[in-house]
Amino acid sequence: AELYGIRNWGAGYFDLNDSGEITVKVPAGDGETRAVSMMEIAQGAMERGLGMPLLLRIENLLDAQVALINESFGRAIESCGYNNVFRGVFPIKVNQQCQVIEEIARAGHPFNHGLEAGSKAELIAALSTLDNAESLIICNGYKDEEFINLGLQAQRLGVQVFFVVETPSEVETIITCAEREQVRPNIGVRIKLASKVGGYWNATSGDRSIFGLGSNDLIAMVDQLRRHDMLDCLKLLHYHLGSQVPNIRDIRTGVLEACRYYADLVEEGAAMGYLDLGGGLAVDYDGSKTNYTHSKNYSLDEYCVDVVEAIMGTLDSEGVAHPVIITESGRATVAYSSVLLFDILDTTRFEPVELEHTKITEDDHPMLRNLQDAAGNITAKNLQESYNDALYYRDEVRSLYLHGQVSLRERANAENLFLQAAQKIRTLLDEAEEIPVDLQALPEVLSDIYYANISVFQSLPDMWAIDQVFPLVPIHRHDEAPTRSAIIADITCDCDGKIDRFIGRQEEQKTLPLHPLREGEDYILGTFLVGAYQETLGDLHNLFGDTNVVNVRINDDGSVDYSREIHGDSIADVLSYVEYRPQDMFEHFRKLAERAVKDGRISPQQRKQILHTYTASMSGYTYFEK
Ligand code: PLP
Repeated sequence: AELYGIRNWGAGYFDLNDSGEITVKVPAGDGETRAVSMMEIAQGAMERGLGMPLLLRIENLLDAQVALINESFGRAIESCGYNNVFRGVFPIKVNQQCQVIEEIARAGHPFNHGLEAGSKAELIAALSTLDNAESLIICNGYKDEEFINLGLQAQRLGVQVFFVVETPSEVETIITCAEREQVRPNIGVRIKLASKVGGYWNATSGDRSIFGLGSNDLIAMVDQLRRHDMLDCLKLLHYHLGSQVPNIRDIRTGVLEACRYYADLVEEGAAMGYLDLGGGLAVDYDGSKTNYTHSKNYSLDEYCVDVVEAIMGTLDSEGVAHPVIITESGRATVAYSSVLLFDILDTTRFEPVELEHTKITEDDHPMLRNLQDAAGNITAKNLQESYNDALYYRDEVRSLYLHGQVSLRERANAENLFLQAAQKIRTLLDEAEEIPVDLQALPEVLSDIYYANISVFQSLPDMWAIDQVFPLVPIHRHDEAPTRSAIIADITCDCDGKIDRFIGRQEEQKTLPLHPLREGEDYILGTFLVGAYQETLGDLHNLFGDTNVVNVRINDDGSVDYSREIHGDSIADVLSYVEYRPQDMFEHFRKLAERAVKDGRISPQQRKQILHTYTASMSGYTYFEK
């Protein structure tokens, strides 16, 4: 657990058992927890025909996070003596999958947890899922008349829909639609805060943020609503500092600034009553509990207390009634519940390859003999010098090869000698008093490549697009020391399809400790905390499609229900996404086969076999199948 920091980032949900397997630990009805081996869950899925790669969704963790956020706000409200309630909403864009949204709605029902929609499609998803008159639906994003009309009709049915004005032009549309439909709309307004936050996803804060109204536009909107006698419809103030805000100071500064706006809108005569802080509640991906980009320097309880206290601190002094507190936490709600499991197909080592004729003789080129001497004379005291020599002689042999002066076999021997020297230097680095600058990258340069049965582009898009790091850990064999050090390459043919940044105890690491593969045995890794943003942002690079998905629920007796499953895209599926027509493709291939029969190259029976192979491939998984 220490080596991979499981207990640091696992938030109490992930741990190890005595057999060296990662367990998922979920709250049970008796107030205790139940732990189940992830290896057992994975094997159960594979036995059911859901092979690797497999996205595992643990429903209990989704329920637990929804409850935790609501309960934590509940405790903060009670302990601070706050005079209103918390109403969370889940932003659908963070994970739009129907099964996830349905589960959040189910788990959120006792807490009146609602949904946030940023588009017409998401509003329809929200309206078709929520069944709780107390829950809110917050509509952000650009809204056309159709979007607004749909929201107004839903309001007629008793659904609490709020339109958050993101741009000045939307006010007019909302007024026009509401007057035509004769519905008093619930209007919110998104403001641009001057506070700018740290972290990766901070472009939504500060003066140049794309969304939201500045103070001048806000006042123009208030006047416009007043002219239409609709100030009583302006009920909500919204802001969003950005996702994954690592520093609690930024959270507090944002609340304080927003409360100033809130109090002044009340002063202007707006009805108000709701303060929506947006998202930003961070996930501690690297377990460092710091204000690093992939971490956070606060607990959930601290976040809730700080928010409640900051609101009270500002509004009490202005004599303004406490509003309903809304947050749109997405990442923190869903990140823990999904784990991407995948197998390792093969490895490459940067070590000498066993060759039949390796002995360097008098007949070999002098450069080879020099290289052999350099490789034989390495000590902890001459690492830099030895490395320079080995590199020089290896490069000389390479250039001799280009000029036809050494044979391919001699070059192979030289490459082997160089790797032998470099590996020896690497092992001696630990003994060196000081590691020369040139050699600092050696462990990374000589690390293994583990070929993983995934597409980073499809399953972990933030990893290649914005250098996000996720905890990546084998889910078994923790009772053995991982003796290899590796980077991961995926199965797309793209040099960006690799993972070479991993969470570390101090800072990101460039290699990951792993176990050597064992003949005939699966080696399964998990990328954890991937429930937020990854699924729909993924793409079809090299036509690797959606992976298999399985939802599991761990029961109070420790048994596991495989509650839902979705088989990943077939090859026919992904081809049809890019406008191929599988039936026409089959016809084309059939004609090739028929012509081959006619030409006498294959028999009709062989044709049958060949077409069978073709159709089986078409309906197969896009990933490596064992
Ligand atoms: N609300 C809005 C308006 C957003 O743009 C986002 C995402 O950036 C969120 C909520 C969710 O943020 P998070 O996942 O950090 O909770």
